Amino acid sequence: MAISSAPTANIFDTLVLQDVAEGNLRITPEQALALYNEMPLLELGRWADKRCRALHGDHIRTYIVDRNINYTNICTAKCTFCAFRRDGDEEDAYTLEYDALLQKIQGVVDIGGTQILMQGGMNPDLPIEWYVELLNLIREKFPLLHVHAFSPPEIIEFVNFFDTPGNTLEEQIRWVLTKLQEAGLHSIPGGGGEIFAPAVREKIGLGKCNAEVWLTVMRVAHELGMNTSATMMFGHIEGIADRVHHMDLVRTWQDNSIADFGFSGGGRYKAFISWPFQPENSPLGKVPEWIPSNDDSEIFPGDVVAKLDGTGKKSACAAFGRQVRYAGSSSYLRTQALSRLFLDNVYSIGSSWVTMGPAIGQTALFYGANDMGSVMVEENVVSAAGTTYCLDEAKICRIIREAGFTPAQRDNRYDILSIHDGENSPDKLVTDWSALEKERLVSHTSDCNTVSLNTVSLTVTQ
Ligand code: SF4
Repeated sequence: MAISSAPTANIFDTLVLQDVAEGNLRITPEQALALYNEMPLLELGRWADKRCRALHGDHIRTYIVDRNINYTNICTAKCTFCAFRRDGDEEDAYTLEYDALLQKIQGVVDIGGTQILMQGGMNPDLPIEWYVELLNLIREKFPLLHVHAFSPPEIIEFVNFFDTPGNTLEEQIRWVLTKLQEAGLHSIPGGGGEIFAPAVREKIGLGKCNAEVWLTVMRVAHELGMNTSATMMFGHIEGIADRVHHMDLVRTWQDNSIADFGFSGGGRYKAFISWPFQPENSPLGKVPEWIPSNDDSEIFPGDVVAKLDGTGKKSACAAFGRQVRYAGSSSYLRTQALSRLFLDNVYSIGSSWVTMGPAIGQTALFYGANDMGSVMVEENVVSAAGTTYCLDEAKICRIIREAGFTPAQRDNRYDILSIHDGENSPDKLVTDWSALEKERLVSHTSDCNTVSLNTVSLTVTQ
């Protein structure tokens, strides 16, 4: 259903914002930019919270139990923000064997997990048959498990490296996705979204598909009845208008998917998750931080270049891409709150506590987020960039409860599996939090792989 917009309305007017919070009015990109730049943080959060409560109620906030399996770190792309990728001949390059993958899956099934999130690099040595066989094996051994896997850049790998049938890119994507879906793929994660604006994407995502291709993969997935998520990684060389443009593309393509496939069993973007760039061990992390001059007159190069319609040209500023503006907590909460208000056609907004830490992740529940992401037993990509927050299920329930909500485990479709309102809730069963903290700290080293299965860690599912 199309929602009307009022481009000339004063977006700071309470009655106008009330309409937005109730889902009756769509914010324009210009209004979104004004809200980001001018509205006090707490006020923006209050409106995002209102919108979130209108959609998800006042009581329940969710999480999912799954495992993030990064099946290969070999990748032909050279994204400058990535600390995870390796060339095939590097000493620590890897591709997991089927047995190792199945063992990891068994681990999450044993603790009540309902899903695996599988993502990897764009590995040119893995033909589609490798994936089909893997999916068949998973379905055979774990018929009830939801497989949420292979983000758009991995799907495009088949088109780029192998002789994929089809006369157009869309046909080729459809062929690949149909094959994977028939083998047991259920939904597609939103990895590789980063920032869609070409000027930024060309600088940070070397060798990765462009925005139109990324969005086309998701559109074809929706056509085939698969749900997907959308992501955004910000807080590097982009301008604020680039963030709004990114959300605008997600909203527009979501409108199209709903209109074209929504009434014939089609899928859609079920969730949007955004998080700040993590600099450690990445080439982009070596780029100097932008320090604005004292009188606030200097404009960040990314803002000089960025345009709301994505047409910004890097030639507009010689310093573009040579300075990084990190997103701290305030910028993160502001961006997430805006996403809740702007993306009126996306059901779930995920808190990204894995990059921001549990405290800000909890605060994010008051800035439009309804979901805390996933309880997992493994995470490799974000931890490679230096972020090592790992929490267990009891702690995540406690974080949600202490924020004033009731924690509930959900599945990939965001259907509730169990509401933890009784004495047997994971957090209520903990009698000594200090012991749990100790156990977690022992297990939680700089490498989340070392976390034992009885000490479940949690991170954000894309
Ligand atoms: S972000 Fe993904 S596509 Fe880019 S280099 Fe890293 S693994 Fe490869």
